[in-house]
Amino acid sequence: MQPSLDSLLRASLRTFTAYKPGTSVDDVRRRFGFERPVKLSQNENPLGTSPRALEALRAVASLSDYVEDDHLALRERLARPYGLAIDNVVLGHGSNELLALAFSVFVDPGDQVVIADPTFSLFRKDAQVAAAETVAVPLRAGVHDLDAMLRAVTPRTKIVFVCDPNNPTGTRVERDALFAFAAALPPGVLLVLDQAYREFMDPGGADGVDVLRRRPATLVLRTASKIYGLASVRFGYGYSSPEVIAWLNRVRLPFNVARPAAVAVLAALDDEAFVARSLDNNVRGKAQLMAAFERLGLHAYPSAANFVAVEVPCAADAAYGALLERGVIVRSGDGLGMPRRLRVSVGTPDENAAFLAALEALLPVWRGQTVEAGSA
Ligand code: PMP
Repeated sequence: MQPSLDSLLRASLRTFTAYKPGTSVDDVRRRFGFERPVKLSQNENPLGTSPRALEALRAVASLSDYVEDDHLALRERLARPYGLAIDNVVLGHGSNELLALAFSVFVDPGDQVVIADPTFSLFRKDAQVAAAETVAVPLRAGVHDLDAMLRAVTPRTKIVFVCDPNNPTGTRVERDALFAFAAALPPGVLLVLDQAYREFMDPGGADGVDVLRRRPATLVLRTASKIYGLASVRFGYGYSSPEVIAWLNRVRLPFNVARPAAVAVLAALDDEAFVARSLDNNVRGKAQLMAAFERLGLHAYPSAANFVAVEVPCAADAAYGALLERGVIVRSGDGLGMPRRLRVSVGTPDENAAFLAALEALLPVWRGQTVEAGSA
């Protein structure tokens, strides 16, 4: 007999909405026939992958053995720039895995977590899987409202998430404000600082490790997916106190970091030339996009990341769909809590120009103006 899934399913999942990854290039090829769509939807590195990482991957001779599960060399390499120790570092199958792991280790059903709104959608999703209650605090002018988030903390709060820079807005918090916030949080609350885009920040931004030094119940999450162009090997890492790290390591799956990921990341970490080129491309590309938005009268939040959240004069889904038909993939803000904005990753100069040309062509339609035949 067919089991009833309704009674089989965990109660916390009955209203569950799945995480939607961005539209894939293959999908746009299939649906619209574009040979090379411009993809600015998943905040990837437009320059590709660190050449040093690719070289190291090519030299992998065998994958038959299980990896050394504690990855000592890699953790030592990640700890070194900060003067931290191996037991301050945990590795994950993407930083996404470490987020889920923090719930497995610290959050019971009915506990609360505090997040910003909008912020990275996985925080809410993971909370739902854990049957935890999400308290969402609206951003103020696009930025985490740290005072309001502090007021939202109750004795039931287990984790407070600060995404810095924030996805999907690209905004960051001020360093001093973050230090004050961290100092005021009750010591029994874990502060998770998701810094997937940390490398792209300007010098005014906070380094989560400086928060960790002041407040041990802090978990700083980073990733190799963005700056090193390694999204598909799946590698993320976290810094925290030895006590937090030990628990994350006890609960995580064995061998969660595959050898190709470990080998590629160890090489990428020394690829200073690729990092410098990537940062340079990002600074220039952001300036190119922001200047065009200003000329076109479109508001965009100041971005500390490798993407921008730009306002459009129509529903985000409609703008996203119209751009898709022109071979440009961006992320609609509709499913991200920004119904009148698009999230656009910074691409190469040519990709940015292709997006801007499509945007400019569509704007008059969106603004409801009639374009006269033959007008410039
Ligand atoms: N955190 C944030 C805020 C992100 O935007 C992303 C990328 N979507 C991640 C984490 C995921 O990183 P990873 O690829 O390491 O799982």
